[in-house]
Amino acid sequence: MNEFELIDRFFTRAVPAGGIVRQGVGDDCALLDCGERLLAVTTDLLLEGRHFQPGVDPEALGHKALAVNLSDLAAAGAAPRAFQLALALPRADEAWLQAFCHGMFALADAHGCVLAGGDTTRVPQLGSAQSAPVDGPLTICITAIGDLPREAARTRGGARIGDDLWVSGTLGDARAALDCRQGDLGRVPTKHVATFATRMDWPQPRVALGVALRGLATAAIDVSDGLLGDLAHVLKRSRVGAIIEWDEVPRSEALRSLPLQDQQRCALAGGDDYELLFTAAASRRAEIEAAGAATSVAVARIGRIVDAGDGLRIRDAPGAEVPVPWHAFDHFAG
Ligand code: ADP
Ligand code: MG
Repeated sequence: MNEFELIDRFFTRAVPAGGIVRQGVGDDCALLDCGERLLAVTTDLLLEGRHFQPGVDPEALGHKALAVNLSDLAAAGAAPRAFQLALALPRADEAWLQAFCHGMFALADAHGCVLAGGDTTRVPQLGSAQSAPVDGPLTICITAIGDLPREAARTRGGARIGDDLWVSGTLGDARAALDCRQGDLGRVPTKHVATFATRMDWPQPRVALGVALRGLATAAIDVSDGLLGDLAHVLKRSRVGAIIEWDEVPRSEALRSLPLQDQQRCALAGGDDYELLFTAAASRRAEIEAAGAATSVAVARIGRIVDAGDGLRIRDAPGAEVPVPWHAFDHFAG
């Protein structure tokens, strides 16, 4: 049972008609019906040893814990309004807390997103009679709330055959950062290592672009588990297929300096990009470009939506199929 089968099987239930929940489990945000406005609600958990390593810069961690939630709001086209913070800490370390708050509140303030509540607890020490006690994992869980006009509702499920497929920014750098830290990439110039690290530690949620795409994008998702895995969610919920043109997939100069195989693995199957992947009718190309320009985020047209029977294919410039031996990130794979 993989992560998504588990969620489907145990946590996906019928949503009562006429109730407050307009979009339930299965999208980047839940959408709650509040009359003229919809509230978009999303939760992300960051666990030490799983999502970040012990000793990571607390300021960057505070930023990232909120950023990954704002990225889900961006996918839904919601404007951030408030958030709740649940923390399980090994100890009350003043310097750590100060830096964490600095990172988190700088991003919150930049988006007018107000901390409205939460919960704080101490993680127990782990260990047995035979071994010295060690701290349990630091755990950060944020629930973010945004809003949008009800007619602007956007989910993963609206892509139509013939739509263009777009992505913001560049893909693959965060994965390359992880590979550099694990020593998997051989020798990489220091300036590229720094580019990769910044992308991994300081993701920039595409909130303004997400809002600017209201009424333009037919479907959207934020790329957190890798382009192919996240696109697969859009295709499944929209019941369509897609063709990606590999040469159009946007990559930083740093990523382009790596061997082609590494570029493809990082950009197609890496995670932690927090870019927006979205679809839109071909007639809206000029408006999409304008939305990107107005919000200072590059947007690239990387393919198109096709019939579900054609699945998901990737082609290089001569039209040859790019093989895809990698899987999207899955917490329960294997
Ligand atoms: P994202 O990557 O956008 O944060 P996830 O892949 O974490 O989304 O989750 C997929 C969907 O499953 C989301 O709609 C999320 O709200 C839902 N989900 C995940 N875990 C649970 C859970 N334990 N109970 C209810 N819904 C869940
Ligand atoms: Mg998401």
